[in-house]
Amino acid sequence: MASQGIIQLLPDHIANQIAAGEVIQRPASVVKELVENAIDAGAKSIKVVVKDAGRTLIQIIDDGKGMNEDDAVLCFQRHATSKITNADDLFKLTTKGFRGEALASIAAISHVSLKTKVSDSDIGTLVEVEGNNIKNKEATVCSNGTSFEVKNIFYNVPARRNFLKSDNVEFGHIREEFERISLAHPDIKFTLHHNGKEEYNLLNGPLRKRIIEVFGRSNNDQLVPVEEDTDIVKIKGYVGKPETARKTRGEQFLFVNQRFFKDSYFHHAISKAFDGLIQDRSFPSYFIFFEIDPSKIDVNIHPTKTEIKFEEDRFIYSILLSSIKQALGKYNVFPTLDFDLDTSFDVPVEVRKTDPIEPQIKVNPLFNPFQNNTSASPSSSNSNSFSKGIMNQGFGQIKNSDADWENFYSIKEEEIIETNEIEFENDLQQTSKSILVRGKYLISNCKSGLMVIDAKRAKERIIYQNLISEFIHKPIASQQLLFPFDKTVNKSELLAWQESQSLLNQLGFNFSIEDQTLSIQGIPTIIPAEEINTTTEEITETLVHGNLQKGELAHGIIAKLAKNGSANTTIRSEEEVTVIINDLFQCEEHTYTPSGKLIVSTVTMEEIAQKF
Ligand code: ADP
Ligand code: MG
Repeated sequence: MASQGIIQLLPDHIANQIAAGEVIQRPASVVKELVENAIDAGAKSIKVVVKDAGRTLIQIIDDGKGMNEDDAVLCFQRHATSKITNADDLFKLTTKGFRGEALASIAAISHVSLKTKVSDSDIGTLVEVEGNNIKNKEATVCSNGTSFEVKNIFYNVPARRNFLKSDNVEFGHIREEFERISLAHPDIKFTLHHNGKEEYNLLNGPLRKRIIEVFGRSNNDQLVPVEEDTDIVKIKGYVGKPETARKTRGEQFLFVNQRFFKDSYFHHAISKAFDGLIQDRSFPSYFIFFEIDPSKIDVNIHPTKTEIKFEEDRFIYSILLSSIKQALGKYNVFPTLDFDLDTSFDVPVEVRKTDPIEPQIKVNPLFNPFQNNTSASPSSSNSNSFSKGIMNQGFGQIKNSDADWENFYSIKEEEIIETNEIEFENDLQQTSKSILVRGKYLISNCKSGLMVIDAKRAKERIIYQNLISEFIHKPIASQQLLFPFDKTVNKSELLAWQESQSLLNQLGFNFSIEDQTLSIQGIPTIIPAEEINTTTEEITETLVHGNLQKGELAHGIIAKLAKNGSANTTIRSEEEVTVIINDLFQCEEHTYTPSGKLIVSTVTMEEIAQKF
């Protein structure tokens, strides 16, 4: 006798419940699917109402195209979709949905009530479904569009229901979905209510406004626009200014064709663009939108569709990296600095109209700080002039020249040196209107108000820039020490120096290793004597714990050299102020030091006005 087969077909409701598990993991998934449907239906305004983090009620009301009586029933069937008709359509998707399983899945695990009306009909349809069974269908009076009410989610799947986290966590997920979708569609109005409280009320408008409304930023100056058009991809969006980078990952959003997705590869490209601008372990915020031919991506690889495959990901990576770098660079220079003489001098003009304040300082006009130092010409606008000046001063001489500088002015701690505006009146140097405060800060007039520059950090950035360009072309200038500097280090540290010997030579270090001792015979000219120890320790730290790839190591070490090379910065002359400002603003980046410290801070006219 033939043995009896053991395979059975699963009853529909069980099959639906299993399938539902893939699409609907928690209340937030329902919000996502229903809001996406509303967008696909062309809604201009979408309301989300949630009770008890979605456990009791999720309602989505839209003003989209609605459904007729037949579709209002059909839409709950598995694989019922109006969005694709054949397999080819999969390659030109412009809608969020296409699988036709969201509504079937939601209906399988909750009580759903649908009210919908198309605009060319006077009467709408009400459909009530429970566990995939149509319980009621009737004509109803309602406005154009669609309203879905989803109650008692997972009422028939206790395992799922028990698996739900606290209301806080679940509502957090809903908020996250809501934010992602609303960011992708700033042209649509959105509201979100939770337990009767309005959480968001987002008007339609430009993307920048949407970002600010969603994240409640007080100041939209924090967003740097990014834009790049290529044949393969169009990139637009915003990145947060480096100073807004946070210690926690958070406001990082990538979208492709208005669909949120996650991608560690592109995330890496964006982070890389911030290299040297923000501190380690802090995260830049970004809102980046790709527009790409739908046939060049595959949204089909993940059931909840947050992972997307890109045909030309490498190419996109490099476009992304360079467009963000460029945006950060461009943004930092132009909006803050005003190169237009007519308007940039508005503040000093006002100052001149008032009675001149008697200078508090005595200047020795015969003193020429540069007479012993031909290379550091302060009037030179050459971006290298400053660092060359420092580097050509032999090792150990910096201290001496410091002593001379002190004779230049007899400065009291509290005094302010003002540059001579009248003399510079017809001078075409953009940065002539600068004030030096206590040898530490430079204050300059700019379009939006006043720019305060930390002089030491400015020098750090300038030295960094100069060392980088020097390093690219030849080994960095080195000075031989009269006596070798010996330092006892442990095995792994020795090994690290040894492994990077040729790179370190290129960077201006000459050394030998005996037993446990690192003996340094030559250091980069930029490093003053008293900084050798610190520099050596920091380089060791960078080599051993810096976690840097080969290509990044040189940059990491040069950053340390710049920091230690600028350690003794004090500025004592107006000429030097001019040189520094000129040099700083010729650097590719001038808002942050290589280690991520703020160099330039702007005090806006509004902020000044508020003080009075
Ligand atoms: P998909 O979105 O993948 O097509 P769904 O199960 O989410 O599958 O929806 C099934 C169908 O129901 C959609 O294709 C659409 O025709 C219709 N539909 C769903 N929601 C709405 C809505 N808010 N407005 C108009 N039609 C809708
Ligand atoms: Mg859908």
